[in-house]
Amino acid sequence: MTLRLYNTRSKQKEVFKSLREGVVSMYVCGPTVYDLLHIGNFRGVIFFNMVRNWLEYLGYSVTYVLNFTDIDDKIIVRSQEKQMSVSELTEYYIKAFQEDLSLLSITPHDVTPKCTEHMDDIVTFIQGLIAKNVAYEVDGSVFFDVLSFKSYGQLSGKSLDDLEAGHRVDPHPNKRDPFDFVLWKPAKEGEPCWESPWGDGRPGWHIECSAMCHAHLGDKIDIHGGGIDLIFPHHENEIAQSECFTDKSFVSYWMHHNFIRFGDEKMSKSLGNVIKGRDYMTTYHPEILKYLLLSVHYRSELNVDTKQTYHAISALTRIYTALRDAHSIMDGSTTASADFQVMINDVYDKVANGLNDDFNTPVAFASIFECVRAFNHEVSTRKSKDTLLKGAATLFVKCIQDLGRYFSLFQESPSTFLKRLDQIMIKELNIDVDYVESMLLERSQARLDKNFQKADDIRDSLLLKHVILHDGRHGTIWEVNKHLD
Ligand SMILES: [Zn+2]
Repeated sequence: MTLRLYNTRSKQKEVFKSLREGVVSMYVCGPTVYDLLHIGNFRGVIFFNMVRNWLEYLGYSVTYVLNFTDIDDKIIVRSQEKQMSVSELTEYYIKAFQEDLSLLSITPHDVTPKCTEHMDDIVTFIQGLIAKNVAYEVDGSVFFDVLSFKSYGQLSGKSLDDLEAGHRVDPHPNKRDPFDFVLWKPAKEGEPCWESPWGDGRPGWHIECSAMCHAHLGDKIDIHGGGIDLIFPHHENEIAQSECFTDKSFVSYWMHHNFIRFGDEKMSKSLGNVIKGRDYMTTYHPEILKYLLLSVHYRSELNVDTKQTYHAISALTRIYTALRDAHSIMDGSTTASADFQVMINDVYDKVANGLNDDFNTPVAFASIFECVRAFNHEVSTRKSKDTLLKGAATLFVKCIQDLGRYFSLFQESPSTFLKRLDQIMIKELNIDVDYVESMLLERSQARLDKNFQKADDIRDSLLLKHVILHDGRHGTIWEVNKHLD
């Protein structure tokens, strides 16, 4: 099994080979902490969590660094609006982000460095660039001299001429070239600042990632990730800074996830035009967010709207219902029919092949549904006391939970989670629970009276309201139809 990754720099899938055997270093550009994160920010968090989990499964020891940008213009403006100090504001939102991560039950990052705690590294880095004659100081500002770095544009695949035609550049009287970018800027009155050889000031955005990446992972790293909006100029500038500083190739594999478009009318009405991850997780569930964000390949655009949310709920209902059934059937035996055993092994292989093919999650999820279908088939064709069915249930639960760990999915308690999905859909569909309960009473009376026509009519009318009845030995239970996609 070989892992192949799409490398933004070469624009093709490449076989993954780590710099050091058995070890992977990974740096992902983290959030600017001045607000709760919107759903778009969570795509990278959830995707790179899977990348890390999968690399660990493949036997690598992974160091995953995600930084916090805790000083920049937006932060300063927001702290003034809220009449808080910059550090009070950023600490508040770092904590909020960490709470979101724990709601998501994903693997914690190994290091989460903050820009403001790396000022010495940043200053040393800038000094190194000036010493190499690729950066220059003018009146307390330091700029990177883009023309001095011959391979500038290697990541975005554009020459400076192309870039000049396609991008608005910030003209600045002190810059030698319009594409030169700021490494250090002088302090403005009343703003937080740090000492430097060029006077009190603060760093530009790009330099913090080069400096923190170097401080925690060294000269060269295996994987650098982020959203596609960071390719230019942020990552292009990181390459220029880091490669000039170390004279080494900075990153082996550049991985970028695509955008999220979100909010149809219904969702925007309840959650706002820019949906916060926190609001989505509270209204729905972290499991739904993870499933939704991974159900589309990371290099494709993704719509987050009511339809896609219901689609995710429906998919999760299928998986968790099968898990709940399996839990009630299994008794510890692991002998299933030969066909079922072969199917299970096949699913492990197919999911692995999907993930090894540049993290093709749609292929991996399709294989998981094959497994669900095969198990449901066992349930519907075998007697409940059949030991081969009990064995299939054990293997099924193990398979879904094993595979789910790569995605940080499918580890919820099935009955609790399905109840939660019911509650979500009751709210979404405005189902009146008291009315349903009263109709259920009326229906059982009709059945006692042997008025089966009336009982059927009630069943049909509830079905139109997305309520499904199940008659069993212990009476009738109801659930919400969660397959609205
Ligand atoms: Zn960055």
